[in-house]
Amino acid sequence: MSIFKSNYAGTCRTCGQRFPAGTLINWQRGLQPAHASAALCQQAAAAPTEGAEGAEGSAPKAKPKRVSAVDKFAEMHTANMEATREMLKQHGEGIQKLASIIAAPRKAIRGPDGRISGTVADLGSRH
Ligand SMILES: [Zn+2]
Repeated sequence: MSIFKSNYAGTCRTCGQRFPAGTLINWQRGLQPAHASAALCQQAAAAPTEGAEGAEGSAPKAKPKRVSAVDKFAEMHTANMEATREMLKQHGEGIQKLASIIAAPRKAIRGPDGRISGTVADLGSRH
């Protein structure tokens, strides 16, 4: 087991936090590296090193990006709602048409011999 400054960024086996190159680590052959001490683990947990440039620098950048993502989502959602509405409208029209056919009075169909051979919906549009 040896303690030295890491030449590479890695992940601590003790706390699971990423650490940047130059972090004092506890290294053992065949094992994942770990922070050299529990204090370093706590430091890593307090200030996650997601990109060593600093957490403050990324915050203002993330904000407009998030807003535009929300806009994009709202846009997609609106388009989706519009499509759903159109589909339901067509569906409703179809049901209405079907209902009017079902509800229409039926008239008898007579064969050449005068016997009723069946019925057909009388939609009333031809008479
Ligand atoms: Zn750690």
